[in-house]
Formats: sequence, C-alpha cells, structure tokens
Amino acid sequence: MSACYLLLTWLILQLGFVFVKSLWYNSVSLEPVECSVAALYALLGLLVGAVLNLAADRLPQRDSIRSLAQCPHCQGEWALVDNVSLLALLLRRGRCPHCGAPHPWRRPILELVTALTFAFYWLRYGPSVQLVLITLYTCILFLVFVIDLEHRLILRVVIFPAIGIAILGSLVYPGLGVRRALLGGAFSFLFFFAIVVFGRLAFGRTAMGGGDANLAAFIGLITGFPEVILAILIAVLLGGLVSLILILGRVKKLKSYIPYGVFLIAGGLAVLVLGEELLSWYFGLY
Ligand SMILES: [Zn+2]
Repeated sequence: MSACYLLLTWLILQLGFVFVKSLWYNSVSLEPVECSVAALYALLGLLVGAVLNLAADRLPQRDSIRSLAQCPHCQGEWALVDNVSLLALLLRRGRCPHCGAPHPWRRPILELVTALTFAFYWLRYGPSVQLVLITLYTCILFLVFVIDLEHRLILRVVIFPAIGIAILGSLVYPGLGVRRALLGGAFSFLFFFAIVVFGRLAFGRTAMGGGDANLAAFIGLITGFPEVILAILIAVLLGGLVSLILILGRVKKLKSYIPYGVFLIAGGLAVLVLGEELLSWYFGLY
C-alpha cells in the first residue's frame, strides 16, 4: 500500500506544480467569482469521490452501487453523512456510528484528491467540452486505479463502457479527432497484448493480464497517437523506479506482483493533462 501513498502524493504534487506554473506563465488572475465557482466544482468532486468509493467497494464484489455504503467492520448501514468520509471525519471523528471502527483511509484520500482535481480542472479548462470529458476520463481512471491496487483487477464492467465513452468523446474532443484516437488505442492495445502473448510464450506465465491491454486501449483512445507513446514511456519509467524503491526497501521481492495498471494510469493522466507542457519541455531539451 505504500506504493499507493507514493503515487497519490506524486499525482497531487504534479497537479500542484502545473497549476502554479500555468499561473506564473499565463498570469491568470484569480477573480473571486472564478474561485467560488471552482470551489463549487470541487464540492461536486467531493461527492463524486464518495460515489467512486462506493463503486470501488461494490463492483469487485459484483454488488449493485444503488444502495448506500456499509461499514466494512460491522456491516451496519451508513447514513448519507457517513458516506462522505471527509464529512464523517469532521462530524463523527471518522468513525462508524454503530461500532466505532475508523473509516478505511482510502475513502477520505480519494474524496480529497477528486475534489482538488476538480478544482484544478475548472481553473485550467474553464466551462468547456474538454473540461467535461477530462473530468469523466479522470473519474474512470481513479476508479480503475483503486480497484487495480486493492484487488489486482481491471473490471470489464468498468473498462468496456469506458472504451465506448472514449470513442464517442474523440468525436468532440478538441485537437484529437477519431483517427488519432483510434490509432492511439490500437497501438497501445497491441503493444500490451504483444507483451502478454510474448510473456506466455517465453516464460509460461505473465505478470500482465488481458485487463492491462484493455486499460491501455482506453488510455490510447483518450491521449491519441503519438502522445500515447509518451504515456507508455512514463508508465514504464515510473513502474521501474517504484519497483526499484520497493525492492531496495525490502517491501517487495523481485517476483512480487506489480500493479502495471496503476503506472499506466499515472502515465496516461500525466499526458492527458500535461501533454503540451511535457512535449514542449521534452523538445525544448534539444
Ligand atoms: Zn461499523
């Protein structure tokens, strides 16, 4: 789980860094009105984070997400307030009203990260088609991230509809276009599919599953070609770096499971949100 803390911290730092940088370069003036609308959007993000928590608990058990959350310790039904763990932290000291067990740490973290991300997106994109789509894609990726980390699963019930949304989204996403999206999706799917097939042929087993190839297809569709190559590159570098830290820190052994999906999501989000900055920085080196 320490890898999760590392990645989440990295994600928040990255978003904060680009936000400060974009303020610096574009000298965006933060009007009080704009800030209060961003705060409202963040509040929506908080509620969406609570729904993502519910989905992350229920979907791997093949349960419906239509009813409210239950306490993981005593199975007692939670009221609406307890479903938003940040509120429960303020009002009930983050404890279950029935048995007093503390909320799992993932709940408030996911709510906070989702709320901050929503605020950041509002200030960066303003009211636009891009804002809606990037918000939607990010929520899907956060859900896949949490489920992959906790259950080592990339659920088809999440990723197949996501692929459909990404194909439809590419019709209206500014500067992307269906052709670049489909090319990106096909490229990254085949890339990871080849790794899975090669792994089975060469070693008789594979560290990567078919779910990773489906996730790669989704990330290729939303970033497009050739940007998806940068996303894969970041995923491979980040995965290698975190694995090395965990192995050197003796948290994991060389043969332990590494959730590749998590790194793929980090790379995909980085390119989706920071694509232009990353590319200009990269080409600026030469
Ligand atoms: Zn309880």
